Amino acid sequence: MAEHVVIIGSGPAGWAAAIYTARASLDPLVIEGAITEDNRLKGTLPLGQLALTTEVENYPGFPIANLGAYLAGAIAPERKQYMADHSGHGVSGPELMELMRQQAVNFGTRIVTDDVIDVDFSKHPFRLTTLEGKTIEALAVIVATGARANYLGLDSEEQFKNAGVSACAVCDGALPRFRNKPLVVVGGGDSAMEEAGYLTKFASKVYIVHRRDKFRASKIMADRALKNPKIEPKWNTIVDEVLGNEKAGVTGVRLKSAIDPHHQEELDVSGYFAAIGHTPNTDFLKGQLKLNEKGYIAWTTPQRTYTSVEGVFAAGDVADDYYRQAITAAGSGCMAALDAERWLAAKGFE
Ligand code: NAP
Repeated sequence: MAEHVVIIGSGPAGWAAAIYTARASLDPLVIEGAITEDNRLKGTLPLGQLALTTEVENYPGFPIANLGAYLAGAIAPERKQYMADHSGHGVSGPELMELMRQQAVNFGTRIVTDDVIDVDFSKHPFRLTTLEGKTIEALAVIVATGARANYLGLDSEEQFKNAGVSACAVCDGALPRFRNKPLVVVGGGDSAMEEAGYLTKFASKVYIVHRRDKFRASKIMADRALKNPKIEPKWNTIVDEVLGNEKAGVTGVRLKSAIDPHHQEELDVSGYFAAIGHTPNTDFLKGQLKLNEKGYIAWTTPQRTYTSVEGVFAAGDVADDYYRQAITAAGSGCMAALDAERWLAAKGFE
């Protein structure tokens, strides 16, 4: 029998959609993603990008306080292994995601730990095929598979993730390890300008390493960055290696010139921020849903989560390359749940 609502994805958008559809008695099924080495390397494990970050200080409702006792009572014992040791300073990304997951479970959400690798939206009920070979039929689908930060692909980036390597200055920039220290941002777009500017609040100096001699960023943002006395651009430059050790994490970067093969340089930095764009997790949707030129799902109606297929809704970063915040993702997850609920009712699928 077809499911009423299947939610694909397990970040803030997916869990918000699950909480709302569960409370609307739609008995949602969340396909949260598979725990595979491939997903680990790509940054697409269950619970999304927030599970890859540390403190979350901009999600309303979690003021800086000792949440340890609250968390101990809120999360099922068998899930505690996925949570960071609580330091007593606000909520961490993994903790916030476990809380959202638990809240969805508390209202009866069913969860499958698997990836959707193929969909057929040409017939109704819709058909989803998973990595483990299951076929699931659904009357309505909410796609909330998010996006993943792009990295250069260096082994050393991987080695120092959560130890000085990040792709989110807003998430991690205020951590003690980056305060009053030189940092490096890689990229030349608006994100790199924004991240670099943000990091100057904490860092002693921020280098922007860019592979060309001109930023791609909008003029206003590029000019603002170049006028900032704490920012130094490194033009025509590529990061060859992130340097560091197990105890200290990142201690520097080795750079090479994009134009002079003999020129190398090392910078002492305690943080490395990749800002070379994001990739939406939409590979499994190709040919089934209208995507924009960057591969994100196109919302077809302003202020609605409708997609090019009636009955398929999209929420969170998979359809948003602009705001990309936990709170905006959760908000659009709620919208998708309400849109799906109303669509099912209008079609008579009570
Ligand atoms: P982006 O505009 O695609 O810029 C990515 C940058 O990374 C480019 O400068 C690119 O270099 C560089 N890059 C990509 N791959 C690289 C590689 N392998 N090695 C070295 N450098 C590499 O991405 P974004 O900055 O994340 O911006 C995404 C969208 O969000 C844009 O539309 C942007 O305007 C928007 N945004 C707006 C704001 C704002 O208005 N406040 C803030 C952030 C983002 P090249 O230039 O050489 O290609």
